[in-house]
Amino acid sequence: MRIGLYPGTFDPVTLGHTDIIRRACKLVDRLVIGVAVNSGKGPLFSLDERVNMIEQESRSINGGTEIVVHPFRNLLIDCAHDVGATVIVRGLRAVADFEYEFQMVGMNRAMDPSVETVFLMADAKYQPIASRLVKEIALLGGDISSFVSPEVKEALLAKIGKA
Ligand code: ADP
Repeated sequence: MRIGLYPGTFDPVTLGHTDIIRRACKLVDRLVIGVAVNSGKGPLFSLDERVNMIEQESRSINGGTEIVVHPFRNLLIDCAHDVGATVIVRGLRAVADFEYEFQMVGMNRAMDPSVETVFLMADAKYQPIASRLVKEIALLGGDISSFVSPEVKEALLAKIGKA
């Protein structure tokens, strides 16, 4: 049984993330979505809220792959060991993501060469989406309908007092 780990902050989960989840499901038998607890990013949504939103989004993904949402606060490579993952899945957007991801792979590989990292690209229409920008656009009153699901949109607008 091949287990993959897709880690992130998911603050909140976007259509870019769900596109990557859908693609990752084609590669593994179980996909663990690792939700980072203490992200340096200072999340807007609480851990529970982020976990609940991903669980809700994952329900719409059909297929044989089991999807599990797993909060983690330790090292990514240790989280991979904890959940039995041999593959780490990351989404790759433009060049901006590359430098950071390149370093992460190198460091993780030094810690455990048996865990492989694979990069997936979202469909072109989802590639520019970033949680940080979605939050900024929402705060400034822009329409975020093409970046997140209707449920996440509602949750985000409620969170920032714009519902
Ligand atoms: P963000 O970078 O938007 O704050 P996360 O830290 O939650 O989001 O990202 C988790 C993973 O999902 C990372 O590998 C990130 O590169 C990837 N990802 C996020 N948005 C997209 C997107 N629109 N297309 C492809 N990958 C993405």
